[in-house]
Amino acid sequence: MGKLLNAQRVVFLSHSAELAGAEILMLRLLSEPMFDDVKVLLFSHGELCEKFAALGISASVIETKSLHDFRRNGSAFSALSKIRPMVATAKNLSSHLRSGDLLVASSQKAFVLGCLVKMFRKDVGPLIWWLHDILTKEHFSSTNLRTVVLLSKLFASKVICTSEEVRSAYEAAGGKRSKASVVEPGIDLRIFTAEHETSRKRTKTAISLSRISPWKGQRNFLDALALLPDANGLIVGAPLFGEQDYFEDLKKHASSLGLDDRVTFMGHRDDVAEVLRSATVFVHVPDAPEPFGQVVIEAMACGLPVVVSNEGAPGRICSGGGGILVPPNNPSRLAEAINKVMSKPDYRGELARKAKTISAKYDAASMRRNFLRALNEV
Ligand code: UDP
Repeated sequence: MGKLLNAQRVVFLSHSAELAGAEILMLRLLSEPMFDDVKVLLFSHGELCEKFAALGISASVIETKSLHDFRRNGSAFSALSKIRPMVATAKNLSSHLRSGDLLVASSQKAFVLGCLVKMFRKDVGPLIWWLHDILTKEHFSSTNLRTVVLLSKLFASKVICTSEEVRSAYEAAGGKRSKASVVEPGIDLRIFTAEHETSRKRTKTAISLSRISPWKGQRNFLDALALLPDANGLIVGAPLFGEQDYFEDLKKHASSLGLDDRVTFMGHRDDVAEVLRSATVFVHVPDAPEPFGQVVIEAMACGLPVVVSNEGAPGRICSGGGGILVPPNNPSRLAEAINKVMSKPDYRGELARKAKTISAKYDAASMRRNFLRALNEV
């Protein structure tokens, strides 16, 4: 592992302490020693604090009420009403920082707070925005898009994007290409491996694994399973960010399709690799382009054939034959693809082999090296 050339303290900022992809990625990055001095500052309590404690990394929570109801698709008026509490939170944050600290903001809200800190503290080191989102109007209001892109021009020394798709959208939204680098996520390939073949392999079982959210495509997955009377489905993941109602609707939808005996909702699991290996085919077909989709790489590394949307990062990663690509929001095409994989063992084996080869380049060690390289460019 290389070193950070200017050996200052590195402070990671995240508004959320829930275990969604961005937070899991931060844990993955920091799970091996990378920096001489590292600190994590979170703006809410949650499981992430305990996970960092288990890694021996100090994670402090800065109390704030202002951030939780700040919506990424909110209006200019709602954003203005948050300025005062945001400034108060930024002042609080500032009191935890030392002169020269290098800040890495791992969420948009944390990035905005980092910008506010940079306004009042000239002695704080560079601010890096670790961008995990595709910045388009599908997900963000125009006010939010314009604001974060402008702030990045003024205050970010670098924007580290999790994929080419994330970088292109950042540039298309007006961000500066010279500031943006791509560092793709990596996973622990000793854990996500096909080697530990499970004794609990289920036949004709398709698995969807991601947080439960309206755009993550679980509803289409159910609609596709309804067209395949011989197939079973596993839906792994929990609703985060207040999306519990959607989860309840999803379960009702499964019942209304007559799928109660064939579909199991497994909730959030920590033993993701083991659960993945128990299935026959992995399905990830969100309604909107996936910025990266670590789950797809995890499934591929576990030796599962995958069916993914023909857009976003998974569409690109699998375009060389590592999976079947289908259009989003198209249950009948999805059902056809699942059926093809389930009914043709040779084809399934060939897809799984290709998927494993592709996944080999997404290892956590490469991600750490690339991340350090990007920081050293600042
Ligand atoms: N995940 C998990 N348990 C679950 C569901 C998801 O640990 O029950 C993990 C999953 O393994 C992946 C992360 O959550 O590492 C989701 O990351 P991804 O980039 O796929 O999606 P995001 O949440 O960023 O949209």
